[in-house]
Order: sequence, then C-alpha cells, then structure tokens
Amino acid sequence: MKNLIVAIDGPAGSGKSTIAKLLAKKYDLTYIDTGAMYRMITLYLLENNIDINDLKEVERVLNTVNLDMQGDKFYLDNVDVSTKIREKRINDNVSKVASIKIVRSNLVDLQRKISNNKDVILDGRDVGTVIFPNAQVKIFLIASPEERARRRYNEFLEKKTEITYDEVLKSIKERDHIDSTRDESPFVKADDAIELDSTNLTIEEVINFISKEIEKAKWTTHD
Ligand code: C5P
Repeated sequence: MKNLIVAIDGPAGSGKSTIAKLLAKKYDLTYIDTGAMYRMITLYLLENNIDINDLKEVERVLNTVNLDMQGDKFYLDNVDVSTKIREKRINDNVSKVASIKIVRSNLVDLQRKISNNKDVILDGRDVGTVIFPNAQVKIFLIASPEERARRRYNEFLEKKTEITYDEVLKSIKERDHIDSTRDESPFVKADDAIELDSTNLTIEEVINFISKEIEKAKWTTHD
C-alpha cells in the first residue's frame, strides 16, 4: 500500500495554497505548505540580523531552530508566527534565502520527513521536481502576473497593509525571476506535471480538475 502524494507547484498568487487546503479537506490529506518553512527561516534571519552570506551562521540557525506546523498555524521555536511570515518584508527577502543551497537541502529533508507514511498534498516550487519526483499527482498551477498581483493586492487590502497594486506586481515579478533563475532547484515545471492556468478559472473549476487526477491516482495507491 503506497501513500498518496499530490504536488502543487506554482508561483505566488497562483492559488496553490487555497486549492491545496480545500483538496486536503476533501480527500483527508495532510497539507504541507513548503513556502511557509522558507518564510519562517527568513523571519528568523531578519529578526536576528543574520547576514545571509554568512553560511556558517545560516547553517547554525538551520540546525537549531524548531519549525512546527499545526493546520493554519506556524510556530518558530514555539512562537506563533503565522501572521508575521506573510508580511511584506518577508516577501521581499524570502527568495534570496530560498536560493541558498544549505537552506534548501535542510528544508527538503524536513519536508520529506514530515510527509513520511502519510497521504499528503504539498504546495511549493520544487515539489514535483525535487522533493517528490515520484508524486502520483503533479500540478503546475499558473496564472498571469497581473491576475496574481490582483489576488495578492486584495489580500493586503483585507489586512489593511499600505501597498499599491504596482508594488505588489513588481514584487511578484521579482520573486518569479529569482525563483526561476536560481542555481539550486529552480522553479520549473516537471516534465510530467500537468499545467493548469487558473487566470480565468474559478476555485471550484480548479478543484474539479485536480480532483479528477487525484481520483485516478487513488486507484494506484490505496483503493
Ligand atoms: O509559496 P510562497 O509564496 O509562500 O513561497 C515563498 C517563497 O519561498 C517563494 O517565493 C520561493 O522563493 C520559496 N519557496 C521555494 N521552494 C518551495 C516553496 C517556496 O523556493 N518549495
């Protein structure tokens, strides 16, 4: 009996976390937000004024901090940082941190470890290419940069963050660029991933599409 692994990779604002959470509920899967882990490490480095070029210090942090996830809540050394990790300062720095080799290898190990022996759905940038190249379902969820910026901008408005749409669009494009051009596990579509463009789709349409893939895959796992 194999465990089911569903990989949802996509850029910021593609809707991957919304979709992954709904699918986790629908199919009783453990949801793992891999981006939140990069965000927590970034928060720690920023709050402790650690120079990201000081790799010895970065390594020490990776070996000592404790990352924990419980549903929608994220804990860094037992402190709830769920809101802080979504702040603009994290968005502006996380891609630089995520391009450091030792950060990636450490977090990929942790992501595999917490997925072990479970039916899981993970979202991120390298789930289908690096973390689980053998995932039974691989979705590459995209949307136009303008639509993604619009979604993120609305989220910032709800949180009353002072930011303009143009600033959000610029930051999204910068993150896309760093993520897809880095040397370590760049953000690319796995050859066998299914590309789905959510620009003009409703959440329900995306869920229905991926549900069909999950149901097909379930035949090869538990059922
Ligand atoms: O998905 P989210 O926007 O929260 O990810 C934040 C950042 O973390 C991404 O822009 C990327 O730099 C990094 N990331 C990554 N690999 C993942 C997940 C996120 O490099 N699997």
